[in-house]
Amino acid sequence: SPKRYREKEKRKPKTILGAVKKMASEVITTYVGLGSNLYNPIEQLNRALTALTSLPTTCVVQASSFYQSEALIEDAQNTELKLPDYVNAVAELITQLSPLSLLDNLQQIETNQGRIRDPHKRWQSRSLDLDILLYANKEVIHDRLHIPHYDLTNRNFVLIPLLEIAPELKLPNGSYIKTYLNSCRSGKIRKLA
Ligand code: ATP
Ligand code: MG
Ligand code: MG
Repeated sequence: SPKRYREKEKRKPKTILGAVKKMASEVITTYVGLGSNLYNPIEQLNRALTALTSLPTTCVVQASSFYQSEALIEDAQNTELKLPDYVNAVAELITQLSPLSLLDNLQQIETNQGRIRDPHKRWQSRSLDLDILLYANKEVIHDRLHIPHYDLTNRNFVLIPLLEIAPELKLPNGSYIKTYLNSCRSGKIRKLA
C-alpha cells in the first residue's frame, strides 16, 4: 500500500545513517600507563609517547610528569640483584580503536622498543611496558585483556601520574580513583624535573 511504501521510505535514511555511525565508531577516552627500567627509561617513555601520537585514529590529549620509583619487590627473581629503578607516566588518549586493537598496537610499540616477552616470567625488567588502565567507562574481561587494569588501585606509581592529569577520574564502578591513594602500596617515588 502507499502508506507502507512511505514508511519504508522514511526508514531508509535511518538505515543509512546507522551504517555510517557504525563505521565512525565512538571516540573513547583511554588512559595508558607507561613504564620502563632498562636502556634509558626517560628516552624509552619519550619515544613511546611519540609512537602513541602516530597510532591510527588516536590522539594523545595529555601526558603526566615522569616519576621514578624502586622496582617492585616481586621483580627480584634473584634477591642479590638490585634492579634498576622504574620511570613511570600516564597518557590520556582519545581513540576510535577497539580495546583489543589498542592492545595490539601498544604491544607492537613495546616490541619496536625492544621489549622481550618471556610468558613464564612476570615483572621482568623491561625497556617498555604499556598497559591500558581505563577505557572510557568500560569493563573488559578477556583472555588477553582486563580493563580496568587489575592492579591499578594498588600502585602508587600508576595512581600518582594518573591523578596528576585526571584528578576527578572515577572507576567504572563509580568510585573516585583518588580515594585509593591512602590504601595503595607506598613504595618510594619521586617526580622527575
Ligand atoms: P602487570 O600487568 O602486572 O603490570 P606486565 O605489565 O609486566 O604486568 P605484561 O608482560 O606487559 O605484564 O603483559 C602480560 C599480558 O597482560 C599481556 O600479554 C596482555 O595480554 C595482558 N593484559 C591484560 N590486561 C591488560 C591491560 N589492561 N593492559 C595491557 N595488557 C594487559
Ligand atoms: Mg604493567
Ligand atoms: Mg604490561
